[in-house]
Amino acid sequence: MNALELFNLKALPQTAAPVRPVKRPRIVEADQPATVYVCIACKKQVFLTTVEAVVCPHCDCRIVSKTVTQTPRVYRAI
Ligand SMILES: [Zn+2]
Repeated sequence: MNALELFNLKALPQTAAPVRPVKRPRIVEADQPATVYVCIACKKQVFLTTVEAVVCPHCDCRIVSKTVTQTPRVYRAI
């Protein structure tokens, strides 16, 4: 039995998904130091601070990775 015939349909009705508002990160003051990250979706540099929402301003992706620094870091361990 065809399930579409139960409802007298020839094809599935096409419904448009509701458009959700895009949350934009708030504007950050220039005195806070920003860290450079790379968006995993669009591969562009993203500058984020500690009070900013983690979101790419170019594609609204929420996953970023930290860039590799050329300066070595030394940690003192006991
Ligand atoms: Zn992106």
